[in-house]
Amino acid sequence: MNQSLRNKTDVLIIGAGPTGLTMACELLRRGLNCRLIDKAEEPSQTSKALGVHSRTLEVFEDMGISKQLIDRGLQVKGINVHAESKNLLHLHLSFQTLHVPYPYVLSVPQSETERQLILLLQSLGGEVERSKELIDLQQNGTRVTALVRDNDENTNITEEISTNWLIGCDGARSQVRKTLNLQFEGSTYEEEFLLADVDLDWNKSHDEIHVWFHEYGPWVVIPLPQLNQWRLIVAFTDKAAEAVPEASTELLQQLMRERTGDTTTTISNPVWMSNFRIHRRLVNRYRQGCVFLAGDAAHIHSPVGAQGMNTGIQDAYNLAWKLALVINNEASTSLLDTYEAERRPVAKSVLAATDVPTRLLTTQNPALRFVRDRLLLQLLSLELIQPLVVKKIAELDIHYRNSSLSQEYQGSLLDTNLLPDKESETPTLKDRFNFQTGPRAGDRAPQGFCQRYPSRSQTSLFEQFQNWVYPIAV
Ligand SMILES: Cc1cc2nc3c(=O)[nH]c(=O)nc-3n(C[C@H](O)[C@H](O)[C@H](O)COP(=O)(O)OP(=O)(O)OC[C@H]3O[C@@H](n4cnc5c(N)ncnc54)[C@H](O)[C@@H]3O)c2cc1C
Repeated sequence: MNQSLRNKTDVLIIGAGPTGLTMACELLRRGLNCRLIDKAEEPSQTSKALGVHSRTLEVFEDMGISKQLIDRGLQVKGINVHAESKNLLHLHLSFQTLHVPYPYVLSVPQSETERQLILLLQSLGGEVERSKELIDLQQNGTRVTALVRDNDENTNITEEISTNWLIGCDGARSQVRKTLNLQFEGSTYEEEFLLADVDLDWNKSHDEIHVWFHEYGPWVVIPLPQLNQWRLIVAFTDKAAEAVPEASTELLQQLMRERTGDTTTTISNPVWMSNFRIHRRLVNRYRQGCVFLAGDAAHIHSPVGAQGMNTGIQDAYNLAWKLALVINNEASTSLLDTYEAERRPVAKSVLAATDVPTRLLTTQNPALRFVRDRLLLQLLSLELIQPLVVKKIAELDIHYRNSSLSQEYQGSLLDTNLLPDKESETPTLKDRFNFQTGPRAGDRAPQGFCQRYPSRSQTSLFEQFQNWVYPIAV
């Protein structure tokens, strides 16, 4: 029998992927009332997003789950680019000079990241309401009504949920985005990719990524945390083939020989295989009235650089504290406009930054391959360039200097002491120079070690931010 229910909540989150889970945890942490629904019966068990970057680990430290994740992951510290047996480039991913607490990319299956977020959610008193699918939504001034179908055959309930705010974290095919009629502009890349999580009986370093360039396309091997387990990704480019074949151990073995020249390594024990295409799309608006979009619902792009999940988690981290202030009447609703103003440019830049390397990696054009192999790889091998590239990949260079929330006051240059004067609070020229080289308003707040006053006990900036549920810079 069909039943209909009417319920209320402050915030309704659609989709319990990494973005929706982060959103729910961040809201519950601030004592807000929210519901999180997902149409899937169970959490996804596939490894999908493997790379968790330095900035996301800092976010997870703030949320209290970085250690759990690091214990279950593998710290990846370099990328090797080969052409057959020749080593073309070694990119260090681990730079002490960046002065960050997590100087590596953590390889950990997305299913494990989601599991840790679900455990955190439960510890905060929340839950994922499963088999519940958003069908439609309507906005009426200050409230949203969501029509949610319970896909559990035994219950067959339709629920009307009335909420102040609704967040669409429902992935690339977002129903929330569709009901808002927002544009998701962009395109799909021509190539189809094969993916497999397998065992390899070779002796290549297990804390590094290995990439082979080949005229028919790249062969990419990423380490998984379990010993001998690796993720293989290969672009299928055989134009003579009538259709792209399904990924299989035999096909991958053949492609490995062709792309790397390796005839001795055996591929075995596949735990996940898939064919996938990649897209490049960005939604035109992140907010319409009381409805927001975050994560893949708002932006999708190539997995090169492993930015997708990381960007979604940081979207949620950015929006949650603002929403909490507004719901608690501690800020005006205009604060919420800074979410799109800060996060959409980040997604736009991720789309651009992943597009060029994707095209260069997959190109079969001899001139472009020459530029890539002879010029770009030379540039990337420079010690001066590598930390800048790593900072970008790690999402450590994201800033909101142009946000209306970032106000900077530097005072007049005339107010400067030429010589040091211990008695005076006026800055010297050296003080001004040091200040300029530090973080600017809107930059990520870095880690730093300090003492409490007056006890002189040790603490750190991150520890202090953790206790403050409304962070200044995210
Ligand atoms: C092969 C591969 C490798 C990748 N590697 C990386 C990587 O290394 N690093 C990285 O950062 N990213 C990577 N990504 C991208 C990453 O997987 C996604 O960016 C990430 O999953 C997005 O998270 P999300 O929570 O926004 O969306 P999703 O993970 O797609 O979650 C959306 C959720 O919404 C639910 N849902 C959908 N519609 C509805 C509805 N109508 N009602 C209720 N629930 C609904 C779905 O069931 C799902 O649980 C990779 C992706 C792929 C495919």
